[in-house]
Amino acid sequence: MSESETPVVRSVTRTDERILASDVFQARTRALPPRNGTGVHREPERTVPVYHRSDVLVVGGGPSGCAAAVAAARAGAEVALLERYNHLGGLATGGLVIWIDRMTDWAGRPVIRGFAEEVLARFPGEAVAGPQPAEWGSRDPARVAYWRQRTAAFHGIVAWSPTIDPERLKCVSQAMLLEAGVRLVLHGWAAAPIVAEGRVGGVLFESKAGRQALIAKVVVDATGDGDLFARAGAEFDTDIEEGDVHHSMNTAFLLGGVDMSRWLEFRGGEPQQFAAFMQLGRERLGFFQPPYVSWRNDVALFLGPRQSGLSALDVDDMTEVEIRSHRFMAEHCEFFRAHAPGFERAYMLQSAPQLGVRHTRRLAGVARIERGQWSAGVALDDEIGVSPSVSPKFPVISVPYGALVPRRLEGLLACGRHISCDANSHGFLREIPQCWLTGQAAGAAAALAANAGIEPRAVDIRQLQRVLLAQHVYLRDRGEQPATTAQAQ
Ligand SMILES: Cc1cc2nc3c(=O)[nH]c(=O)nc-3n(C[C@H](O)[C@H](O)[C@H](O)COP(=O)(O)OP(=O)(O)OC[C@H]3O[C@@H](n4cnc5c(N)ncnc54)[C@H](O)[C@@H]3O)c2cc1C
Repeated sequence: MSESETPVVRSVTRTDERILASDVFQARTRALPPRNGTGVHREPERTVPVYHRSDVLVVGGGPSGCAAAVAAARAGAEVALLERYNHLGGLATGGLVIWIDRMTDWAGRPVIRGFAEEVLARFPGEAVAGPQPAEWGSRDPARVAYWRQRTAAFHGIVAWSPTIDPERLKCVSQAMLLEAGVRLVLHGWAAAPIVAEGRVGGVLFESKAGRQALIAKVVVDATGDGDLFARAGAEFDTDIEEGDVHHSMNTAFLLGGVDMSRWLEFRGGEPQQFAAFMQLGRERLGFFQPPYVSWRNDVALFLGPRQSGLSALDVDDMTEVEIRSHRFMAEHCEFFRAHAPGFERAYMLQSAPQLGVRHTRRLAGVARIERGQWSAGVALDDEIGVSPSVSPKFPVISVPYGALVPRRLEGLLACGRHISCDANSHGFLREIPQCWLTGQAAGAAAALAANAGIEPRAVDIRQLQRVLLAQHVYLRDRGEQPATTAQAQ
């Protein structure tokens, strides 16, 4: 590795206030030459055929979009979902983010339920790896030691945070949407929202058939990057928390042909050799990151090396991350094969077809989840879900409906990793279970608004909460009294 390839590393002091604190790794050089475009090109005006009309249009088929589409359809709306790729699941499938983060609180009670529970309940045992319910919340040192190495114990407590087969999640998501009667549109890129007088009424999308329109009474922006609300003129935030992983990018990859039990024996049982291995990896490769377990012993999951200082709204930066990440995959495969116990016969199984983007824009909503709220533990009046907190020193966190509603723009709701929150809270609100949670709420609310012919911001919050409870979402009574789903119905 030459001097120019050594990353700039800024060490971050670790605290238990971040779901994933991270040192910052920034490259010194770029693979791409600068672009040479200048001037402008004027696009002629044109009329566009209407492809489909629906009550609710969900744009983006990631975790939040899938949950939104199913929730809206079950709440009585006619629903269409537009997705640019050939599959559903977003980063959780195409991004190979197959570690579903915590859905239990620190006592082991499941708090992210509803769609999250249903989707995982459809998985056959062979397609999911994680602790059984009896172990959730366990502080037994032996069980904690076992699960800590397998993505499911944090702060000395076993949690429900399994790893899954991404192909199974594609199939389950697709089955759930089709069963609910959602009109799927794959291979379509939402190019622009249709906006008139401050209200979104659909999107223009591009496909092999050219530009067409999808018209809807309510649009749910589940693109992850706020593509629609940003282009429709809604306010948004872009600031980051530097010491948190939440702003870094990379393309994840899987190595096959490995023996993860052997690797974990080495990692946990031979600390000095492991430290030497890590040091050698950093010296040789610069950008270097060890793997996580997956749902199979013969597949290793690499959710890095993470890269900072780049924007997923800049196509050159995105290209740069792809070029580097593919290089890193080949280098990691070779290095691990040569030096890591359990990786002697490793091969490059797959790099993610979707770029790993953790953060771009966040909606500036009617409400905003902020760091100052973490200690309160209060069930907000407009609670639409409950998130686990980042550490046992905080109670669970109430997610308000207002975090999905733009301050001024009408006809649109946001869900998923671009909801309204501060940069600190984005660290955990962007996780897959939280995206299922906000997606389900956005979908149910969009259906209520479309059915009643009102704006999303005018939805009756009690009616929305009743719909969510009927869809097995965990909500609390105001004043923080925990209520079970069955009681609340
Ligand atoms: C490397 C990495 C590691 C992570 N680790 C974890 C982890 O361990 N555990 C965890 O729970 N979470 C993790 N996350 C976070 C989590 O994966 C995402 O935040 C979550 O998937 C976001 O869901 P979403 O539905 O909001 O967006 P996405 O999953 O990004 O889905 C958005 C969907 O919208 C589609 N789309 C976007 N724009 C358009 C458009 N203009 N037209 C049509 N379709 C469009 C995309 O193709 C995509 O399918 C990680 C993320 C990354 C990148």
